[in-house]
Amino acid sequence: MTRLVVVGAGVAGLAAAWEAVQRGRFDDVVVLEAAPRTGGKLLTTDMSLPDGTSLRIDEGADAFLARRPEAVQLCEELGLTDELTSPAMGRAKVFVDGELRMLPARTALGVPLDVHDPEVAAVLGPDGVAELVSADSADHAPLTGDVAIGPYLRERLGATTVERIVGPLLGGINAGDIDRMSLQAVAPPIAAAARAGGSLTSAAATNAVPADGPVFLTPLGGSQRLVDRLVEALVDQGVDVRTAAPVGSLTADGKQVLVATADDELTADAVVVATPANVAARLVSAVSPGAADLLGSVDHVSVAFTTLVFDRDDVPGPLDAAGMLVPHSASTTITAASWGSVKWAHWDDGRHVVVRASVGHDGDDRGRTLSDEQVTAAVLEDLATTMGITAAPVAVRITRWTDGFPQYRPGHGDLVRQVTEQLGADAPQVRLAGMAYEGVGIPASIGTGRRAAAALSELLA
Ligand SMILES: Cc1cc2nc3c(=O)[nH]c(=O)nc-3n(C[C@H](O)[C@H](O)[C@H](O)COP(=O)(O)OP(=O)(O)OC[C@H]3O[C@@H](n4cnc5c(N)ncnc54)[C@H](O)[C@@H]3O)c2cc1C
Repeated sequence: MTRLVVVGAGVAGLAAAWEAVQRGRFDDVVVLEAAPRTGGKLLTTDMSLPDGTSLRIDEGADAFLARRPEAVQLCEELGLTDELTSPAMGRAKVFVDGELRMLPARTALGVPLDVHDPEVAAVLGPDGVAELVSADSADHAPLTGDVAIGPYLRERLGATTVERIVGPLLGGINAGDIDRMSLQAVAPPIAAAARAGGSLTSAAATNAVPADGPVFLTPLGGSQRLVDRLVEALVDQGVDVRTAAPVGSLTADGKQVLVATADDELTADAVVVATPANVAARLVSAVSPGAADLLGSVDHVSVAFTTLVFDRDDVPGPLDAAGMLVPHSASTTITAASWGSVKWAHWDDGRHVVVRASVGHDGDDRGRTLSDEQVTAAVLEDLATTMGITAAPVAVRITRWTDGFPQYRPGHGDLVRQVTEQLGADAPQVRLAGMAYEGVGIPASIGTGRRAAAALSELLA
C-alpha cells in the first residue's frame, strides 16, 4: 500500500490531495491539518449586525485571479463554475494630495501603459508626469537578474509614479515593502518588460494582454466555499482529512518518512508539506537540514485584517470604486482599504457599507503588536482622513493573520530553486507547496500543490 501524507489543509495542501486522487498512484491519501478547521487563509464567516441581520464576509482572501488557469480549472473540476461571481466594480482610487482620485485603468501592475494618459496625469500632477516622461525616455539597458522593485522602478518611472501608484499597489497586495521585494517573483510582467530595455511603459504596453472577461472571480458563498467543496470531494473519494492534527516532525525511515502528530505516527511513501514556509523549515529539518536553513530565511509578516460595517448614511462621498490605496506619504497606518459592499454585490444589503483594511506590513509590526482596540482606533482615524467617515461602525471584526504573508526578497526565485534542489537531493519523497514559493495568490498556491502531488505520483510510478 502506498500512502501520501499532506501536511496542511489550506488550498495548496487540499489541491495536492486532489491531484493525487486524480492520478490514482496512491492507495491512501491522508491530510493532516493543525487547526480545528480546514481552509487555512480561505475563511468566510457571518458577521452579525445590530439590526439582527448578518453578512457573510471573507476574513482573508476574497477572490482569485481569473486570468491564471489554476483556480478557474479547479472550480470547473469541482462543479463550482456556476457559483462564481465577479466584482461589481473593478476600479480603485488612490489618496493623493488630500483627496481620492481614480487610479489609471491602463496600467500593468501599476506601470502606466501610456505616459500621456490623462488619468495618469490626474494622479501624478504635472511635475510627476514630467518626471515619468523623463525617466521613461532615458536610455535604459535591458534588466538582467533580479532587483528590488522600489529602487529599480524609481529609476525607470520616477519617484512619484512609484510613490503614488506602483508602490501602494504591489506593497499592499503583499503586505510588503517594495524596497525589499523581488521584481521577478512579485511582478513577473514588469520584469519581462524591463528585460526589453528602453521605455518600460512601451514594453509593458506591448506585452499587455487585452482584457477579456473578469479579472477576479469568487464563489458566491465566499472563498471558503472553494475549500469546503474540495474537502467534500476529497472525502467522497476516500481521502482521510483530519483536523486538530498538527504535525510535529518528519523523520526519514529508509525510503519512507515517519510523520508524527501528537497522538499518531504515520508511515508515508511521499509527503507534501503545504504549511507556511517557517513551519516547513522546522518540519523538514530532520530530512533536509540544508533545505530547512534556506526555508528559514523566508521572512513572514503579520497583519490584523479589519472588517468594519457602517450605516450607509454615515459614509460620505461617492462610493464609485472597489476600494482605495493609500501611499506611504499619507503617513496613515493602513495602506489600502477595500470597499467590500461596492466591490461585491452579494455583500451589499442596501443599508450598510463594508470596508476591509489591513494593519501591518513589512517593517511595520503593528499588525501583531497593537491590541484590537488600538487597531480599530487606527483604522477609524485613517478612514476619517481618507474617506471622511467620522461615525462609529455598527460592527467591527479583526482577524489576526500571524505570519500571514511570506516576503519575496530579491533573488526569491533562486532561493526556491535551491530549496527544491536540496530537498530533492536529500529527501525526494518530500515536496513543498503553498504561497511562499511561486506567488502569494490562490491560483499560484493551487498550482504548487498540484505540481507537488504530480511529481510525487511520477516518482513512485
Ligand atoms: C488577509 C489576506 C488576504 C488575501 N487576499 C487574497 C486574495 O484576495 N486573492 C488571492 O488570490 N490571495 C489572497 N491571499 C493569499 C491567499 O490567501 C493564499 O494564497 C492562500 O490561501 C494560501 O494557501 P496555502 O495553502 O498556501 O496556505 P494556508 O492557507 O496558510 O494553509 C496552510 C495550512 O497549514 C496548516 N499548518 C500549519 N502548521 C501545520 C502543522 N504543523 N501541521 C499541520 N498543518 C499545519 C495551517 O493551519 C493552514 O491551514 C490573501 C491572504 C491574506 C492573509
